[in-house]
Amino acid sequence: MAAQVVLLASGAEVDRFRQMGADDPQSLFGVEVTTFPRWIEGLWARYGDGRAIVGRVQRRMLLTRLVRERREAVLADGLACARQRGATSGSAEDDAASGGRLADAAAIGDPPSGDIAWSPGFVRFADRVLQVAAGLPALEDLVARGGASASGSDWPDNQGLIVDLLRQYAAELRGAGLVEGGEAAQWLAVNAPCAFPAGLRVRHAGGTPLTWHEQAFFERLPHVRLQVDPLQGADVLAPVRAGVRLSFAFPAGAYARPALLAQTIERLAPDHDVVVACADPVGLFEALAPGLQRPCFAQGARPYRRTSFGGALIALHEAIAKPGLSDAERLVLLCDVLRSPFAGLSQKAARSVEQQVRGDRLTRFDDVLAEVRAASELFSQLEEVATQPGADVLLGVFEDRARRMTGRGGHWVADELAAIAATRQTCYAAYQGACTVEDCIGTLREATVSVARSAGEGLTAPTVRIMGRTAAACLPPSAVHTVIACGFEQASLPLGGADDAVTLFLERCGLTSPDDPLAAQRRMVQGLEAAARCNLVVERLLRDESADEAYPAAVFEELVDAYRDDPTNVDELRNEHRLPACLDQRAFDRGEDLLVENECRGPRLEAVALANSCEREPDDPLHAAAVSQLRAVGRLDGGLIPSPSALEAYVECPRKWLITRGFRTDGLDEGFGPAERGTFAHRVLELLYSRLAERGVPRIVPAGVDEAASLLREAAAEVEAEQAALKPGSRLAARTLFERKEVHGLVESMVRHLPDEAALLPRFRPLHLEYQISRESPVSYAGGLLAGRIDRIDVDDQGNAVVIDYKSSVSDEHSVGFWRAHQTGKVQALVYARAVERALGLNVVGSLYVRAVKAAGPVVAGALDPRFAGPADLPGSKADAVMCDMEGPLSFRGLVDEVEQRVAYALECLRAGDVAPRPSWSGVCASCPLSSCPRREN
Ligand code: SF4
Repeated sequence: MAAQVVLLASGAEVDRFRQMGADDPQSLFGVEVTTFPRWIEGLWARYGDGRAIVGRVQRRMLLTRLVRERREAVLADGLACARQRGATSGSAEDDAASGGRLADAAAIGDPPSGDIAWSPGFVRFADRVLQVAAGLPALEDLVARGGASASGSDWPDNQGLIVDLLRQYAAELRGAGLVEGGEAAQWLAVNAPCAFPAGLRVRHAGGTPLTWHEQAFFERLPHVRLQVDPLQGADVLAPVRAGVRLSFAFPAGAYARPALLAQTIERLAPDHDVVVACADPVGLFEALAPGLQRPCFAQGARPYRRTSFGGALIALHEAIAKPGLSDAERLVLLCDVLRSPFAGLSQKAARSVEQQVRGDRLTRFDDVLAEVRAASELFSQLEEVATQPGADVLLGVFEDRARRMTGRGGHWVADELAAIAATRQTCYAAYQGACTVEDCIGTLREATVSVARSAGEGLTAPTVRIMGRTAAACLPPSAVHTVIACGFEQASLPLGGADDAVTLFLERCGLTSPDDPLAAQRRMVQGLEAAARCNLVVERLLRDESADEAYPAAVFEELVDAYRDDPTNVDELRNEHRLPACLDQRAFDRGEDLLVENECRGPRLEAVALANSCEREPDDPLHAAAVSQLRAVGRLDGGLIPSPSALEAYVECPRKWLITRGFRTDGLDEGFGPAERGTFAHRVLELLYSRLAERGVPRIVPAGVDEAASLLREAAAEVEAEQAALKPGSRLAARTLFERKEVHGLVESMVRHLPDEAALLPRFRPLHLEYQISRESPVSYAGGLLAGRIDRIDVDDQGNAVVIDYKSSVSDEHSVGFWRAHQTGKVQALVYARAVERALGLNVVGSLYVRAVKAAGPVVAGALDPRFAGPADLPGSKADAVMCDMEGPLSFRGLVDEVEQRVAYALECLRAGDVAPRPSWSGVCASCPLSSCPRREN
């Protein structure tokens, strides 16, 4: 039968069919070769009822609006009910609480608990149903009967709501003068007999099964002579045809894939064209093209949100209009927008705003927004597009800007123009469907744009084309020398999905899938094999991104089984690649161990790499850079030496000092961590003791704990109130309710510590709080000059003093007992002991680390001369570990002398640029970020 119309499953198959018929032009003369949807579109234009067939974007927009309106209605109902209960119950508290909860929910777009959450998932669900089943009698009947809202409804879970949504969608569609393509097909079959004269010959070619729409359509037209090509893919795969060589590529993981593909291409087709078929052509192009010395092309899709324009537009809309976000969250989004070339700020200006925002936790979003608006007209225009209906007239401004930015490459410009075009198309659909900007952004968030890539233009070598698997399978027979089919893992080619929610819903409508996923995959493999002239390479990863074994796809195993003598004999596959002997010689593999190292990014890791280079490559220029950096950081500025805490870090391990302090790898963000909590606690304690002194109370005693507690809470409230006005870096800036609760918890923990404080060193009293040895009047120490601040100095009536350093936690390493066992330990408080002697002329008899908050573990650690205090004076401590010997190297004086000598030696090493990894004890390595250090001791 010579067909008048030939129907194929996709545009790519249509192209192949036409190319195959090109040798005999007569065979296609007068034949319409097309897909079913395109055929219907053409017929509808001539015989339809005047409505336009709805496009994909229009459908998504309409559904997005309907779902949003339902979500808003649920929230409004909840609020109304709460108010009504308030009017009738009389329980003002309960009703205020429930009303408040609902208002909170409304603010963030969530429904009150128990009500349906009308999420974007409903849009995706309804969209899929309409794509495959719109207009089919089975679905139309169900929709006509109604869903959850119909009386006697027995729909499970959310399916009834979907039916109601589809019902409303159908009414809206008709009201807008639109029709679904599937519905148009059924309408034509019933109402346009002149479009299908008796005896019309239609061939369904390509070996794919009829879709539901096609089945229902041709059932209504029994007089049309339909010829369906035999179904392909029903039988298991056979060995590839003679003349084509089958090989395999096994990268150990995704990192090894590009290098192995490049090697395979050069090995099998050094002088021939290659097609690489994969799931993500553009992603693979970006990884593979730089390693190829030949022209390379790719065509595929990119998520709209990953283009510069799309990403900026979505982030700006969320920053300004998304309900329920904190200022901090809005600012993060805004900083992302400012880095975009479509914000109109220079990179320097964008970085400066980001530094300002991250360095000050209390920055207000509205203030920054106003600043940026004033600085950039382009930003204001982008804001209009992101928030105001009708502002799409400004899109031309961004097209002009994209076109002018040729320095970013032709592909970048093309991607951005495609993204702007998608925005314009969505805005147009919004006008037609009475949708809001929020609906537009919701649709664009899930949109993709078509993109193309090319590299190596001008090279004369044969080409490498990277394309989707389905498109590659539609290439004409023997079109290319070598085809590499990628991603034959189970995760990439799943057979599941038959029990997903949409499938179950359609089955309830009586619609079971006309195609079998395995058969479709077999057709794909057969198409790829047919396209190959000499080589077919099948590639699969051995491990997934979690380094777990990646299982082969069913079609991979079928293809391998086709070469086995006995597929039930497992011994045939007992080899490295699990291939029969006849195929094992044709397998290529590659590990990914070397490639992982290249993934190191970020300032801390760069610092680590730099520091490692100091040892590995003494002649490396990086070594000189590192040494010059550390000299700059540790220079003896006018004779001043580093602070006691920095000296302690260097004494513990020079390399760790370089990493954690020398390179200043702290982030830009103002913190809310232990350091800031410590600053806050110090200030509270300083205020507490000065208030006690004003009342004539020299120290806290057991009977005065309650009074001290109340003074401490007052002091904390005062300190908390002054935080916002302090400079970032010297404050604890709480910005959320949760953080304010954390501050409250810290204060109460300090209150619970007060009984220990009352029992500590009862014969001593705090005399100096936050005592400053200024840089202008430093003390001599270890051959240099030392400045610094000492948390507290307690003094007894005879002028004996104990230096106290507050810590958030203390451990054995802080005590003399540790020195006794290891001949080393923490030095900071012992440095302060000598400094206080020289600054104030006091007889220092102890240096203690005190935890000023209640928590598990010891309260006190350090070193104390036993002649001036005993274990009873040290609550919550391992007193034996704190007590020094009466004399000798581990007497308090002996220890202070020893530490000064060690610091003097350390300063010599520092001046010489010594940054060797040299841990004083193994515990130092436990908190060191240098994971690859060869001297690591744990
Ligand atoms: S791992 Fe240990 S030895 Fe190496 S730098 Fe860190 S602290 Fe020093």
